[in-house]
Amino acid sequence: MSDYCKGCAYDVKAKTGETACPFNLLYWHFLDRHRDRFARNPRMANAYRVWERMEKTHRDRVLGDAEAFLRRLDEGDPV
Ligand code: SF4
Repeated sequence: MSDYCKGCAYDVKAKTGETACPFNLLYWHFLDRHRDRFARNPRMANAYRVWERMEKTHRDRVLGDAEAFLRRLDEGDPV
């Protein structure tokens, strides 16, 4: 494993919240947004199973944090 995340302003282990790694947030946001396109793809089945096993409140928080991150990007925030 690498330590590329060392020194980053985000916490790669934080799943939600201000310091959550945006790559995690945006990964799940992308999968959720494109469910109709990818859910039946056998290569994606495990990712969707993992997503569905998460508590709905957690999934909602991940999606909300991802939306907030994307809004900040749209507004020109250097995040
Ligand atoms: S944004 Fe996420 S993946 Fe990239 S260095 Fe920071 S914690 Fe690691």
